[in-house]
Amino acid sequence: MTRKPARGRPKPKTTAKPEAVRNHALAQVLGVPPLSAAKFATLGIRRRFDLVLHLPLRYEDETQITEVGEALPGVAVQVEVLVLEATTQFRPRRQLVVRCRDTLNDGAPLVLRFINYYGSQAKHFEPGARIRAIGEIRDGFLGPEMVHPRYKVVDEGAPLSVALTPIYPTTAGLTQPILRKAIDRALTEESLDDTLPTAVLEEAHLVSFSSALQVAHRPRPEDDATALLDGSHPAWQRIKFDELLTQQLSLKRAHAARRTRRAPLMPQHAAGDGLTTQLLAQLPFKLTGAQERVWTEIAADMAAPHPMQRLLQGDVGSGKTIVAALAACRAVEAGYQAAFMAPTEILAEQHFRKLTGWLAPLGIQVAWLTGSLKAKERRAMAGAIADGSAQIAVGTHALFQADVTFHKLGLAVVDEQHRFGVKQRLALRSKGFEWGAPKNEADQASSSTTSEQPISVSFSEHATIPHQLMMSATPIPRTLAMTFFADLDVSMINELPAGRSPIITKLISEARRGEVIERVRYACGQGTQAYWVCPLIEESELLQLQTAVDTHIALQAALPDLRVGLLHGRMKPDEKMAVMGEFSSGALHVLVATTVIEVGVDVPNAALMVIEHAERFGLAQLHQLRGRVGRGAAQSVCALLFAGPLSFTARARLKVMYESLDGFEIARQDLKIRGPGEFLGARQSGVPMLRFANLEEDVELVEHARSVAERLLREDPATVDAHLARWLAGREELLRA
Ligand code: ADP
Ligand code: MG
Repeated sequence: MTRKPARGRPKPKTTAKPEAVRNHALAQVLGVPPLSAAKFATLGIRRRFDLVLHLPLRYEDETQITEVGEALPGVAVQVEVLVLEATTQFRPRRQLVVRCRDTLNDGAPLVLRFINYYGSQAKHFEPGARIRAIGEIRDGFLGPEMVHPRYKVVDEGAPLSVALTPIYPTTAGLTQPILRKAIDRALTEESLDDTLPTAVLEEAHLVSFSSALQVAHRPRPEDDATALLDGSHPAWQRIKFDELLTQQLSLKRAHAARRTRRAPLMPQHAAGDGLTTQLLAQLPFKLTGAQERVWTEIAADMAAPHPMQRLLQGDVGSGKTIVAALAACRAVEAGYQAAFMAPTEILAEQHFRKLTGWLAPLGIQVAWLTGSLKAKERRAMAGAIADGSAQIAVGTHALFQADVTFHKLGLAVVDEQHRFGVKQRLALRSKGFEWGAPKNEADQASSSTTSEQPISVSFSEHATIPHQLMMSATPIPRTLAMTFFADLDVSMINELPAGRSPIITKLISEARRGEVIERVRYACGQGTQAYWVCPLIEESELLQLQTAVDTHIALQAALPDLRVGLLHGRMKPDEKMAVMGEFSSGALHVLVATTVIEVGVDVPNAALMVIEHAERFGLAQLHQLRGRVGRGAAQSVCALLFAGPLSFTARARLKVMYESLDGFEIARQDLKIRGPGEFLGARQSGVPMLRFANLEEDVELVEHARSVAERLLREDPATVDAHLARWLAGREELLRA
């Protein structure tokens, strides 16, 4: 290494301009008043073209006037009224109350109510003023009222709009007229040339970019209002297509870019007598056909000279861990280290035990690292990882924190990858490029005193990147997989190990709790074990904790002959481990737990799962929880206790659980009940990047975008560049989270 040490290098000059200067510059670029520039920046508008892409959130219909008495509940209408009197009230809080009467027919009364308003606004409501107001009319204390309508003061007979009015997403203090004016200018001054070849447009039945943008921003009288409002208008179809195409192109490019990087070679042992072979030979079971197949796919990736980017999907209990262990073995075989990361300490600890059990007999040392380790242990573990004496490191995200340096990392396995937040996943992905590298040059200077260099020492183009294997039990429906994992290769385990009988699911009313307790007694008498999951109390972690403690006491009292343990999120990590250890060794019969056991926990002898207040859980969560049983030979039962009255969606969820054991089917139903944003969870969805398209409604567009993306990447890189430049402008990172 010939890098200069950091010491003595001059500090880089600060490049941050004072805010005022920056705002002034932005104002000039956008052609807006300097004072509002910062607000535009808040909206993510930094180039003139961003104005063009700042599309309406919705439209309002100002083309007609509705009688106050004719307005339907929940539907925004425009009314025209005359002000009778405006007063400021102070109870329950300061508000402006404007009493009016309709200008149409019977002169029905209407109250306009403003909670947040400027003092100057009161001046608009002189008695006799004619107001056009848009909003929903509801029954208020004083009769029909509109709360916070959009309004304008008009003269009698003022002409109505001839087309829908766009309403833009905005921020406090930036009014619709200012936005509209800035956008109007951008629309006339910016080039709206198409980024896509005509052939693509024709084939996918898409209108031109310029006409789509013009119509979406400035609907014409002849445009179909319903279609504009519900997004099925050709203009919006084109916009959604462009957005989906952007996502596909950017993900696939990222994928392709990684394929140009080098990764450690991990070929199969020629003699067929390597560690993986030994591991397979000592397993108490044979791999299923599906496990064999995905292992072949993974092994092929690892033998290739570029980094693996693979997602291993398989329903709960399908046996992903052993596949990952094989991959880890293959890395060790080739002389590299493997990192194995899990989202919770409980799961990390379980993996640690399992991997140690499998791999220690083969002479492989497994280290263990989580956030809760004592400083001394942590140093020891980090030391073993840094000097290579531990070939495998298992842990939580603590594994990729700044002070952990791998000696020779060749493979990173991420279990339950969907459980990591967007931030962590971003860190992880970027870590793919720097994992195992010294964090700064001082480190590097010190590590160069050891004879061997860490494998990836810098951000240099020539450094190798570890292979990455993500695992997820959350079955992702096809459209989501296509959009969110377009940059990953996917392997799927689509069969469960043999000899398992399907779990029987029972829906049981809370009133029959006593019978359920008897069932627990019976099951444990038969030599199996049981989980008892406490109700979810989202509002209060403390209440949730209390419930778990209470349930534990109650079950202990009801089942004096059985050993009942308790596991919850507030316990210290070593306490958790101890309880989990006792339950997996069979020393505890019953485990009362909060949802901390939701992911990954594997105790094959547990054959009964009781979930209290199952109606409060989401489908994915219920499926994960239920997946804790049905892992052994015994017939397993999952009892979903519910308390009425059930909401419509709660009933729908329980029905799905009752009817299906198939994670994919459940995910599909979940998507139906909730919609994709919620399905993936706001925290991890990356959905903010899809501002316009809707994965459920726009399935066909997704398919089109995907095939067009493939073709453009192959045949027309210039078009790809132009399209990405237009739509992304530096926001690629977010997309990939
Ligand atoms: P998941 O895919 O949910 O992570 P696990 O890897 O925890 O599943 O495996 C579930 C259980 O099935 C474990 O006890 C594991 O040892 C066992 N198992 C895995 N593969 C097989 C197999 N081919 N035959 C029998 N049991 C298996
Ligand atoms: Mg697992």
